[in-house]
Amino acid sequence: MNIFADEAIEKFRLSGKILREVREKMKDYVREGMLIIDVCEKTENLIQEKGGKPAFPCNVSINEIAAHYTSPPNDQKRIPEKSIVKLDLGVHVDGYVTDSEVTICFNSECRSLLKAAEQALSAAINNIHPGISTSRLGAIIEKTIKSHGFKPISNLTGHQIGRYIVHAGTPIPNVSHLSFFSKIKLGGIYAIEPFVTLPNAVGKVKNGEEVTIFRFLKRRSLKSPYAKQLLKHIEKSFRTLPFGERWLQNVVPKEHYQEAFRELLSSKAIMGYPVFVEASGKPVAQAEHTVMVVEDGCEVLT
Ligand code: MN
Ligand code: MN
Repeated sequence: MNIFADEAIEKFRLSGKILREVREKMKDYVREGMLIIDVCEKTENLIQEKGGKPAFPCNVSINEIAAHYTSPPNDQKRIPEKSIVKLDLGVHVDGYVTDSEVTICFNSECRSLLKAAEQALSAAINNIHPGISTSRLGAIIEKTIKSHGFKPISNLTGHQIGRYIVHAGTPIPNVSHLSFFSKIKLGGIYAIEPFVTLPNAVGKVKNGEEVTIFRFLKRRSLKSPYAKQLLKHIEKSFRTLPFGERWLQNVVPKEHYQEAFRELLSSKAIMGYPVFVEASGKPVAQAEHTVMVVEDGCEVLT
């Protein structure tokens, strides 16, 4: 028996196809000096033009920022010269999410880091099958990265995917020593995502100052009518999927927006995801695909 019905599987496949097409187009589009907000908006618009919806705001995480940066409204930041750009995108079709990433290199160090990340991802994809333990996959990923002379980020993991849920259940570690005793399930949808940094780095991420991505938590009693209106819009439009403030413009009158948004955060109606920064400030590369586990291995959806 499969976890998802045939119809759901077809939606995952379509979601993955849209993601792959957008990712490949954006990979060739991104240049040093570009406004990050233009990259985010172009990615999200392409997803919609192809009939999907963004499953989370397009992440553009640069150098030591490993993940979770998307442009806030009116972002003036640009892609720095000689940087490592991690463009992480999610697509959903009727809630069926796929998640993948491409690292774009504007320096040569990045290319070696990326090679290690890509080969670790390939090794995991070649070994995943029903019944393999997630810690075994972590060991395979770690060994591959170390054979290139680099270090995995030990506190970032891959994850299982559900309908309208990006991070569902079982994490897939990028190192062997984290003991997760889960077994990979037949028909399960998983994102595998090794993160690689330099051998002299701490090899962990910590929360940074910036928070640019948010998620609905719970209906709360709110004081401001604008906060109520904003929360209603969030719940209806994104359900349990992450969103960015760029997606909330013009929902309530501009002059009331800031206060309404702050009330949603302070009342814990929504939560924020801080950016993840490599603890010693070293650069990070990543590779990620979403796969569906089948009898004798997996089908790469992205
Ligand atoms: Mn991702
Ligand atoms: Mn992911």
